[in-house]
Amino acid sequence: MAITYSEEIQVERAKTTKINSVDFNNLAFGKIFSDHMFVCDFEDGKWQTPKILPYQPITLQPSSKIFHYGQSIFEGMKAYKDENGSVFLFRPIDNCKRLNISAKRLAMPEIPEDYFMNGLKELLKIEKDWIPTSEGSALYIRPFMFATGEGFHASPADSYKLVIAFAPSGPYFSGDVKVLIEEKYSRSANGGVGFAKAGGNYAGQFYPTQLAKEKGYQQVIWTDDNTHEYIEEAGAMNIFVRINDTLLTVPTSDRILDGITRKSILKIAEDEGIKTEVRKIKVSELIEASENGSLKELFGAGTAAVVSPISGFGFKGKNYDLPKLEDTFGARLKKRITDIQTNKAEDPFGWRI
Ligand code: PMP
Repeated sequence: MAITYSEEIQVERAKTTKINSVDFNNLAFGKIFSDHMFVCDFEDGKWQTPKILPYQPITLQPSSKIFHYGQSIFEGMKAYKDENGSVFLFRPIDNCKRLNISAKRLAMPEIPEDYFMNGLKELLKIEKDWIPTSEGSALYIRPFMFATGEGFHASPADSYKLVIAFAPSGPYFSGDVKVLIEEKYSRSANGGVGFAKAGGNYAGQFYPTQLAKEKGYQQVIWTDDNTHEYIEEAGAMNIFVRINDTLLTVPTSDRILDGITRKSILKIAEDEGIKTEVRKIKVSELIEASENGSLKELFGAGTAAVVSPISGFGFKGKNYDLPKLEDTFGARLKKRITDIQTNKAEDPFGWRI
């Protein structure tokens, strides 16, 4: 079924702004929200007139299917402002495509790319003063879609709401990140929804992560659900491993999110002449490399943290520390990608919009 939609955006401006109460030099991650949001309803088989409204609560019936069957997906991306005040997005169409991949998997309607991009750009024009410019900060953009349609019948809803909200944000993690390699729980399975950004994937991660935190680790390294012998993701980030001078990451699959930071880092690393390998990595290989000194770096990669260095990992009750290097691939690649994102460096890849 072709999805039809109407194009003009109705704009209702907020009567007051909260912007003067925000300390833009001391931002936490995703804790305060800008004055407006983009909202669009899918009803009667089509996307209705999109709106930009003051940021406000959403009212739903108790029988809305989001509450019962978890039809809920989201995206995460960022907007940046350079010193001339120009505003940039980083590979936003990839986020829209991934939102649609998630929508399809959860039997939700797909959103046309131009519809999504127009709404996002209009909202950004209105909210451009909310884009922080201090080091390590950006405007975090959270598009999400959920089932508003009612009924206790376990079947897809007939109406949905797409919202885009903004949160001016500072760094995601502060300090040392130690991770626990998971031996029991899984975040995803073959044939499942791991490759989608479905809300439930994250709910399922919280409990094992809480258990890891009780043991003194900040994050879990997810392993494959079948054998728990292969590493897959670092919390809600893709994982990178440096063994000697080779940078490795694992192939995406049904179980692993196709991260935009991951694929950008792979490209940049190749461009910088770093040897890269995309292949499965066994936990036993990590341990062996740690023991023989060839394991140089471990880091997570994702929009929120960009690159999150890992200082050590735990497995079967034993801790393995990573060496403290002066020049890391992680720091080098993080600088190059953020310089591209913030218009401080040339963008030979055509990623900046
Ligand atoms: N894996 C998971 C499970 C994630 O939630 C994220 C964050 N979206 C990533 C990886 C990194 O993806 P991206 O680089 O597109 O933010």
